[in-house]
Amino acid sequence: MDKTKLRNDIILILSLLLVAAVTLIVLLTRTTPGKKTAHISVSNQEVEVVDLSKNEDKEYLINGTNGVLHVHTHEGAIAVIESNCPHQDCVHMGYISEAGRSIVCIYNQVIITIDGEPINDVEL
Ligand SMILES: [Zn+2]
Repeated sequence: MDKTKLRNDIILILSLLLVAAVTLIVLLTRTTPGKKTAHISVSNQEVEVVDLSKNEDKEYLINGTNGVLHVHTHEGAIAVIESNCPHQDCVHMGYISEAGRSIVCIYNQVIITIDGEPINDVEL
């Protein structure tokens, strides 16, 4: 048995394993599953950043341009549960949880958007 050839084979296998391990680590850290944050802004000014991956049951009071919005988080979703706006469109949006979704209250100039890994469901 050629010892040099065997050593070279071992080095090759080890480096392949290393490449595979590094690739896996990069993939895992890059796409943290379920990592979601909701960004709440009033008149294009970010006023609150909520980590939805914590699954917290929490209420936030957001001072809109014409009144206060009651924003609620529940099981990784966020909703406007109370608002003084005339059409209540933001309240009717209900809970949103997917990245890319947003709730807009034009009356109070409040925008809630969700950032994070997009869920690859076929919903176009
Ligand atoms: Zn509204």
